Amino acid sequence: MSAETIQQVLDFLRDSGVQRLDLTGGAPEMNPAFMRLVEEARDMGVHVIDRCNLTVLMEEDYRDMAAFLAAQQVEIVASMPCYLEENVDAQRGKGVFGQSIRALQLLNRLGYGTDEALLLNLVYNPQGINLPPPQQQLEQDYKEKLRRDYGILFNNLFTITNMPIKRFGSTLLSKGQFEEYMQLLKSTYNEKSLPAVMCRTTLSVDWQGYVYDCDFNQILGLPAGLSSGKVHLRDLAQTDFNGLDIAIMDHCYGCTAGMGSSCGGALV
Ligand code: SF4
Repeated sequence: MSAETIQQVLDFLRDSGVQRLDLTGGAPEMNPAFMRLVEEARDMGVHVIDRCNLTVLMEEDYRDMAAFLAAQQVEIVASMPCYLEENVDAQRGKGVFGQSIRALQLLNRLGYGTDEALLLNLVYNPQGINLPPPQQQLEQDYKEKLRRDYGILFNNLFTITNMPIKRFGSTLLSKGQFEEYMQLLKSTYNEKSLPAVMCRTTLSVDWQGYVYDCDFNQILGLPAGLSSGKVHLRDLAQTDFNGLDIAIMDHCYGCTAGMGSSCGGALV
């Protein structure tokens, strides 16, 4: 995301009164304007969330990043697909588990997980064609294991259903499991999740400043339902989003299956 687009994000925050900025990417901290974006958003009183891959915090060039995030009271949401080293390294690469553990310990030393202003949340995705297990029970297991084995404390575990799109969707297709997984999502449709699906309260902005109803639609290149074409953030400052359409397709069953799913975990 260019400095110009980042300025457009800040302008939108100021003009719209949006109160929450959720930053994601491969590693959003690596954008040269990341600190400016966070500082200016926090100066406006906006709550900032950093979806952090943890390992970036251990890179030589980003040694000051964890302290910066703590000083700005940025909420951290970090992927931790398992509390077992062999599973994490198998999924995300050799050595990733150890680096993630060291990063979590560093965040704990800065007050994350214990200071109520410094939220540290972890994310779990299931393996294979399963829905996530009950979030509360798994959170208890994670808390027990990470505390006992590594002295790590964190606030919440978010369980997130795998979406049948892009890499996971391709894997399902190549294994001949796509239809089976879609059937699972459809057969476990939970109407109670509908009021809380994240597209109702979130706008997803891509690196060029175009907006989508959610990150999944962004990945699919499905423009926000409020328009038939691509919409740019700079054209939306005065828009009232209440009652506007949301672009939905079959992948949306991933948000409404079982206990529901969003960037903040289960919905019901
Ligand atoms: S995938 Fe569909 S239901 Fe889920 S957040 Fe996006 S638009 Fe909403």
